[in-house]
Amino acid sequence: MSQELTHPTIKDGWFREISDTMWPGEAMTLKVDKILHHEKSKYQDVLIFKSTDYGNVLVLDNVIQATERDEFSYQEMITHLAMNSHPNPKKVLVIGGGDGGVLREVVKHEGVEEAWLCDIDEAVIRLSKQYLPDMSKSYSHPKVRTHIGDGFQFLRDYQNTFDVIITDSSDPEGPAETLFQKPYFELLNSALTSNGVITTQAESIWLHLPIIKDLKKACSEVFPVVEYSYTTIPTYPSGQIGFMVCSKDKSVDVKKPLRTLSDDEEAKLYRYYNKRIHEASFVLPTWAAKELEL
Ligand code: SAM
Repeated sequence: MSQELTHPTIKDGWFREISDTMWPGEAMTLKVDKILHHEKSKYQDVLIFKSTDYGNVLVLDNVIQATERDEFSYQEMITHLAMNSHPNPKKVLVIGGGDGGVLREVVKHEGVEEAWLCDIDEAVIRLSKQYLPDMSKSYSHPKVRTHIGDGFQFLRDYQNTFDVIITDSSDPEGPAETLFQKPYFELLNSALTSNGVITTQAESIWLHLPIIKDLKKACSEVFPVVEYSYTTIPTYPSGQIGFMVCSKDKSVDVKKPLRTLSDDEEAKLYRYYNKRIHEASFVLPTWAAKELEL
């Protein structure tokens, strides 16, 4: 009989997402059916548990990264906001995204010829293949190329190469810290083709306005088009998370999709994203819009 696994974030059968720095005074809790795996990788603490109501859950350094029940909201929005803001994305790069969910969304676009992924931690990819099969299924797709390494260093080797780069990173504490700073956006800019588009994981207006303001300022010093969008997702702190959406092409309005599918085709491909929610996701509450005006 294998010894039951334990983890410091799990007590009395409940996982608690406590962070005194990122979301002081609050915590998402999920009821745990079974701890499936725990290891300290080279970069972070990796925990995977089966929850009673949200499927399998991936946790990195005690922070929920994805749950099987609601991951589609985040993966679809961070991907299709970018892909549909580019006229014809052929070569796409995902920085982070080790669970594979963004890759799964990227290859839904038939015009894509190559979908690259660079994640710093092989453990996330290995364990996602084992415990998150629907998210990680595209790792075997013929258009996909996987690279293990730091996204910041990886980008140094590429100029004028990618049409879309999606930064699906963890929070700016730990290995993803550099992915929220201006030098990173300068690297993104040089790695993009002339009308390239990026999206980045950009936290929550309820909890992280200072981070988002800094992010928007850094992006605005590099890209001519910078807009903030968000999606609803029950298991992220405050129940929502945002994206910075930027284009190198100043004539592009990223708030309206350049390319759309029929309602029927959208219903076949997506569970969250659609052409109307693409536009609606950029409409911010009054206080946040005011705070984010540069
Ligand atoms: N959806 C999640 C969120 O919103 O926080 C992110 C999911 S994904 C699992 C985050 C990934 O970023 C992890 O696999 C982690 O290994 C990767 N990562 C963190 N820092 C990185 C870096 N500097 N370069 C590449 N990947 C990095």
